[in-house]
Amino acid sequence: MFHKIDPERQDPLTVSVQQFEQRLQWLIDHNYQPITLKQLVASIDQKQSLPARPVLITFDDAYVNNLTYALPVLQRLNLTAVLFVPTAFVGQCNQWDGCTEPLMTTEQLKQLAPTFELALHSHQHLNYKTLSISDIQADLTQNITACNALEIPYVRAFAYPYGGRPKDPATKRAMQDAMQQAGIRLAFRIGNRLNRFPVNNRFEWQRLDIRGTDSMARFVRQIRFGKLI
Ligand SMILES: [Zn+2]
Repeated sequence: MFHKIDPERQDPLTVSVQQFEQRLQWLIDHNYQPITLKQLVASIDQKQSLPARPVLITFDDAYVNNLTYALPVLQRLNLTAVLFVPTAFVGQCNQWDGCTEPLMTTEQLKQLAPTFELALHSHQHLNYKTLSISDIQADLTQNITACNALEIPYVRAFAYPYGGRPKDPATKRAMQDAMQQAGIRLAFRIGNRLNRFPVNNRFEWQRLDIRGTDSMARFVRQIRFGKLI
């Protein structure tokens, strides 16, 4: 899971271009096989097999810097990635985080194909951990309506903002039912663990938080072992 890519800056949400390239090159050199979100959905829905050492490269929030800096690196290395888009903020800025960064316009999102697949990252970028079930249902509906209105192909997969899901088991089940009804096939939390196959719950895929403040050695340990203590 990546967020921002910048030529120089490195912080928990920002990986420099050089770090990004180094990390992807390490995956290639160690025979990790990047898969698409469509392949992952088909592996569950149609029991299609995945290559050995499958890895899915994902980005949250749709920062313009992904188009400017991540796209050329992915193209050069012949890799694909997924972009999870919070639809209320297309062409605006990350309002949930002080509007520090521009987010892609519809035109910019279109320029990502075929390297990036698009998918859902909620409508308002609110934390589903703190929302009522009716607010979650309303946000999901708006998210899908807005994504359809962009008229860009997308995969019915979802990444929870902040990785947040309701704590209460009944609310969580109701949220998963709402996702199922909305045609959402998979959802991603953070969790920082590797996923086991077959997955126990299609709405609880885990992702590794790749930070610009972490060393290359830590990245390698994350990829190999998942949770680091
Ligand atoms: Zn986000």
